[in-house]
Amino acid sequence: MTPPFRVAVVGCAGRMGRMNLTTIHATEGCVIAGGSDQPGSPAVGADIGSLIGVDPLGVTVTDDPVELFARADAVIDFTTPEATRRHAGLAAQAEVVYVVGTTGLTPEDQAVIDQAAIQTVVVQSANMSLGVNLLQILTEQVAKALDADYDIEIVEMHHRHKVDSPSGTALMLGQAAAAGRGVNLDDVACKARDGQVGARPRGEIGFATLRGGDVPGEHSVIFAAEGERLELSHKAGSRGIFAKGALKAALWGRGRHPGLYSMRDVLGLAD
Ligand code: NAD
Repeated sequence: MTPPFRVAVVGCAGRMGRMNLTTIHATEGCVIAGGSDQPGSPAVGADIGSLIGVDPLGVTVTDDPVELFARADAVIDFTTPEATRRHAGLAAQAEVVYVVGTTGLTPEDQAVIDQAAIQTVVVQSANMSLGVNLLQILTEQVAKALDADYDIEIVEMHHRHKVDSPSGTALMLGQAAAAGRGVNLDDVACKARDGQVGARPRGEIGFATLRGGDVPGEHSVIFAAEGERLELSHKAGSRGIFAKGALKAALWGRGRHPGLYSMRDVLGLAD
């Protein structure tokens, strides 16, 4: 009999952490190897079952990621950029499949993840859902088909607790639009407008950010020209879609060669 696939969750007391635990618990062939949260978190020392509303599982939340990585086949990380930098190094040492969903990463954070991917399998995406990965492909195709007479604006809305802006997904969609147009996003992005900013420059890719309530994530890419407007949209109804994608990525990564992969690879959508 194949032994169960042991999946650990770092940041397991967070919104996505709990959803990841629930998804692993409900998936045949997978077991929760354990979970960590930051030192001082009230969850540390609690039985993991209590975090997801099931009977005790006999595994407690730790604040020591080193011992956690040692007993896992895969680790799922939706935490903060600072924590992710540390986790990426540990994943490389332990050679576990490392799935990263954390957003708001700086180029320095990304370099640490890229380095880890030399030693182990890393799957990283700012959005783990099938729908958004399809939206990314559609955005690139539409941007390629339309010229700069079509102004591109990306609108996103998330819950009031989200700390980074624009969302990682909005930036990922911006990258797709820029790639379709054959331009560099950093050269054409406008991430905020306030006051007398003047007329919209041709070719700009604009971002608008809404925050409020408990919205898990909504994104629209708008192509607006004189006389017509094309809009591509995705609405996440629950965080379950991201957790399902993250676990799919962990299972997909089992036995693969070290490298940096995306959800497009996992979903078979890569070129
Ligand atoms: P959250 O604040 O609810 O959860 C983060 C958790 O990480 C908290 O429990 C926090 O205590 C913990 N944490 C912080 N530092 C830690 C450390 N050093 N060690 C262990 N745990 C630590 O946030 P969230 O809404 O769950 O989102 C987390 C991240 O995931 C954000 O960057 C968000 O943008 C991203 N996200 C990505 C996707 C995707 O599909 N890629 C989807 C949703 C959210």
